[in-house]
Amino acid sequence: MIRRLSELDVRGKRVLVRVDFNVPLAEDGTVRDDTRIRGALPTIRAILEREGIPILMSHLGRPKGTPMAQFSLRPVAQHLAALIGTTVHFAPDCIGHVATATVSQARPNEVVLLENLRFHPGEEENDRDFAASLAQLGDAYVNDAFGAAHRAHASISALAENFVGRRAMGLLMEREIQYLSQVFAAPRRPFVAIIGGAKISDKIRVLENLLQHADFVLIGGGMANTFLAAQGRNIGESIVDERFIELAHSLYAQYATKLYLPIDAVLSDELNDSAITTTLNTQDIPPDTELKILDIGPETVQSYRDIIQTAELVVWNGPMGVFEFKPFRAGTLGIATSVAEATARGATTIVGGGDSIAALTLAGVADQITHVSTGGGATLEYLEGKVLPGIAALEE
Ligand code: AMP
Repeated sequence: MIRRLSELDVRGKRVLVRVDFNVPLAEDGTVRDDTRIRGALPTIRAILEREGIPILMSHLGRPKGTPMAQFSLRPVAQHLAALIGTTVHFAPDCIGHVATATVSQARPNEVVLLENLRFHPGEEENDRDFAASLAQLGDAYVNDAFGAAHRAHASISALAENFVGRRAMGLLMEREIQYLSQVFAAPRRPFVAIIGGAKISDKIRVLENLLQHADFVLIGGGMANTFLAAQGRNIGESIVDERFIELAHSLYAQYATKLYLPIDAVLSDELNDSAITTTLNTQDIPPDTELKILDIGPETVQSYRDIIQTAELVVWNGPMGVFEFKPFRAGTLGIATSVAEATARGATTIVGGGDSIAALTLAGVADQITHVSTGGGATLEYLEGKVLPGIAALEE
């Protein structure tokens, strides 16, 4: 059982909240994209409304265990104060008397943000003593950092052990688990998974897991090439991972009825916005060509769309082509639009991965998806079927 935030006693309590404020900063030190800060606002507000004092903790970048000015969370404190409209006390160290003093200044309806956890080596080492120092600052613990839940770090794992019976998932974490768990626990059917992206090595475990649970698995992007090569197709100079050809071959044999590969492709020998392209059936790519497969073709888009239109649950991760360049964008945009159509029809649609989310924005359908997962690496590991340390640590 994992306690929900609404079930945690926070009134008058100092509530340690692990958030994911690992945001990009501009050269002048201001916050360049505050999506992650906004993502934590519902949890922070819920604690404030119930008269708790949120003590926020996060990492930022990779300072590798020592204080580094360019990774300070101070600018985030200012940004957060403007967003939430209340005082945000900034503690220039996340543990010790500096932190204790800052926390003791905070009054009801105020917030504390602790300095970057990774300024101490204990954070990434999941060190118990470091976790115990953090634990002294709070009466209860909430983890709302789904994007960091795949890391067994002190603020995510060891810290939770100090709060048996006094720990809960935040609202963002709850939403991620609520949607992503549908993939494995009695998914609505037909369940269609769409997997793309550059490298088969990054996604092979996700793919194997989804093949077991989904009714249709549609493959695109660079990773499709390894499957096409395993089918004996010519793929020219396309990216391919020879190490996975055998596995791709056996997966295709085992799951022939549910695994779909591109039937046509957009090819080119150049990668830019004015590249000259050729569209070919994937059976007709000549041997010894110097062309590369850089997008799925229009017939593939249409056939994938037909399948997506039957779905009750859709999970999509990874672009169908090199969508950063206009000539190779149509496949990814076509899938984005089809997934949005499925949502409108009443299907549950879940999209994860930075590139797929960027594609939703490009296609103008980012608000037409049931759940856009912000987890990145955590989302992928969840879809691999792994138990995430940050989720396991919350179990009672
Ligand atoms: P990933 O991070 O694994 O989701 O991969 C995303 C990247 O895959 C994007 O930058 C795309 O440009 C790239 N990609 C998609 N399709 C292809 C392809 N056919 N060949 C090479 N790269 C691709």
